Amino acid sequence: MARTFRQVGIAHRQLLTGHTFPVYRPSYYAEFRISRKAPYSTTAVTTSKEDCGPLTKHLQDQIRFGGPLSVAQFMRSALTHPLGGYYMKRDVFGAAGDFITSPEISQMFGEELLLQLVGIWFITHWQTLGSPKDIQIVELGPGRGTLMSDMLRALGHFPQIHGAIRGVHMVDASPHLRQMQATKLAPSVKFPEDLKSVTREDGLEVHWHESLDSVPEGICSMFVAHEFFDAMPIYKFELTKDGWREIVVTLDESPHSPHHFAFSLSEGPTKASSMIMAYEKFQHKYQVGDRIEVAPDSYAVSNRISRRIKENSGGALFIDYGRDYALGDSLRGIRKHQFVDVLSHPGEADLSADVDFSFLRDSAQDLAAAHGPITQSTFLRAMGIAARMQMLLKNADAEKRKDLATGFDRVVSPAGMGTVYKFLALTPLDCDQPYPFQPDPLMQHESPEDQPAAAA
Ligand code: SAH
Repeated sequence: MARTFRQVGIAHRQLLTGHTFPVYRPSYYAEFRISRKAPYSTTAVTTSKEDCGPLTKHLQDQIRFGGPLSVAQFMRSALTHPLGGYYMKRDVFGAAGDFITSPEISQMFGEELLLQLVGIWFITHWQTLGSPKDIQIVELGPGRGTLMSDMLRALGHFPQIHGAIRGVHMVDASPHLRQMQATKLAPSVKFPEDLKSVTREDGLEVHWHESLDSVPEGICSMFVAHEFFDAMPIYKFELTKDGWREIVVTLDESPHSPHHFAFSLSEGPTKASSMIMAYEKFQHKYQVGDRIEVAPDSYAVSNRISRRIKENSGGALFIDYGRDYALGDSLRGIRKHQFVDVLSHPGEADLSADVDFSFLRDSAQDLAAAHGPITQSTFLRAMGIAARMQMLLKNADAEKRKDLATGFDRVVSPAGMGTVYKFLALTPLDCDQPYPFQPDPLMQHESPEDQPAAAA
């Protein structure tokens, strides 16, 4: 018999503790990470099933006709399916949305320090490359467009690099968010429904793409991705005495459960588990019962970026929350600022998983040099966030000073987002080590040897 189990630990803990904190997308409430071995059950009290929207029906049909789905298929549909994927229909950010990302927090703290410092990093890197005359800037998963807007403002203070920008390319699966990005980047321009490109008042041309494939090649490109890789679909595996087995999504037809879907451990190998078995990295260190999450799409995107960097020079900065190894059970659902069951109401909740930065590093192969990850705290401090704060504080009244201090603490403090968020850079192989990607003392506890057993 296939075993079924349900990810309710996070929501359950939340109920027990009565927390109603705003849910920042990265779960830096690490203690809420669940062990699915815990005997939580939602089956005792409920007898009626959740409402069934078009996406739920579609996924049910897929399973009925084609068998269980990989967690990656489920996650991809829940986030980007045209029938009602989470990102496909609305503004999911900010106080009224489901979560707050750190660009939004930086806006909350009134200044765009974090994002401007990302811009400064690109300027420094551009100079390291010998100030190439033609470049393009590419952002993956830009959300509301806050990061690009702030970055371009920062670059606007440096006419040399600004004058070298031949195009800005925004890669986003969501038509709705593409429109929002356009409104942010070019507020005075009217847009057609099928938004492809606009020219901003500063003369920069901004283009939109559904995937990296259509972004032009043959030009030095600077790539940035903030909380993009955590939205990439993950596969889940568990090590059994017979090797890695895939955790898949099946139908939950029990009349006692409100849910339509359940996790299930495949009895035999699947295509995906066979690939994991062949991967050297996952051969050691693991014990029976351990679980891992693997995002092949993240690897593929980062690998294609590395190839472009090799062929046309450039650089990439990936900012996300995650670890320097594969986690076991980080996949989470957030809806209306609450953690929710991952399989409940697909399309209604944001699903995301911690990024395995070691996997992104591997994807650079011998195409590009990977640097880091280093923590956000170390990156921001090294880039001079404290000095900039001092300048802002000088002109601030008491209330503003308090806001600034709170916001600063939130993004920099090692107890919060400062260590949860990591920065990874990709550069051409022949490039000097980029500043500030030095060994980071705050990363010490993140060596793979310290990796907690996933099934503990
Ligand atoms: N960078 C922003 C938004 C992060 S949310 C921020 O940090 O605030 C993830 C973004 O990635 C959204 O804009 C979503 O539409 C986009 N996205 C998710 N899956 C995608 C995919 N498969 N291809 C392209 N974009 C995707």
